[in-house]
Amino acid sequence: MLSVREVGIGYGAGSGRVRALDEVSLDFRPANLTLVMGPSGSGKTTLLSLLGCLLTPDRGEVSVMNAPIRGLSEEARGRIRRRHIGYIFQAFRLFHSLSAIENVTIALEICGQRGRKSRELAMHALEAVGLADRWRLKPGELSGGEKQRVAIARALVNDPPIILADEPTASLDSASGLQITQTLRRLADEDQRLVVVVSHDPRWLPFSDRTVTLQDGRVLDDSDAPSRDQERQQPPNMVETSSSAVLPPAVR
Ligand code: ADP
Ligand code: MG
Repeated sequence: MLSVREVGIGYGAGSGRVRALDEVSLDFRPANLTLVMGPSGSGKTTLLSLLGCLLTPDRGEVSVMNAPIRGLSEEARGRIRRRHIGYIFQAFRLFHSLSAIENVTIALEICGQRGRKSRELAMHALEAVGLADRWRLKPGELSGGEKQRVAIARALVNDPPIILADEPTASLDSASGLQITQTLRRLADEDQRLVVVVSHDPRWLPFSDRTVTLQDGRVLDDSDAPSRDQERQQPPNMVETSSSAVLPPAVR
């Protein structure tokens, strides 16, 4: 459904050129949460940007919904992004002058959808992340965990089959972090979405089906987590939260 084949990409030019990814091949499956780990600078964000069609590789092939994106115009790639991919950026990227619901409806406006229907869908997406009662508030009035949940609602509102999240629990306390991990886990389990999370936060390990480790732009390790169900029954030092993060039918 989503794959990279022997992709390579660098930044900069000449002798200052940095090779960010080299010969990376990976396939991602629906109803699966893949964790991409690796030290800072190992290429995690670059990989996610390639998967999200925000960047194009120098070499190799990226396919979204089993179709190669090579040679497509920027506009065509934008259409694929809006239809199939929900991207959760590092550090939220919310508009500070807009309320929570306006930060979500913006993703629909980009697709030409406005008005009452768009507010309804945005409200459902906020409900799905447990923020229905916070819809009027602006990012400055929300906690870090709530801001991240608005960012997730915005990624979900177009109902994309693919969700990509860059360091979604960075700088969140353990209760907020757990809500985010549970929310993204449900998107894979209950909605059968393909979820890729980039993080070096070990709290994700019990929630992942598979862990890909990058180092210096290459895949160092790629392993499935056969014992996930068993581990998730007893997550270490974590408090169970409500099930308010289940996406209502209207947004599916
Ligand atoms: P990670 O997310 O694992 O920290 P990145 O994908 O951001 O890694 O970066 C991989 C490598 O590419 C690093 O060496 C980084 O410094 C370099 N890099 C990333 N983005 C840029 C950029 N916009 N310009 C120049 N170098 C970059
Ligand atoms: Mg990064």
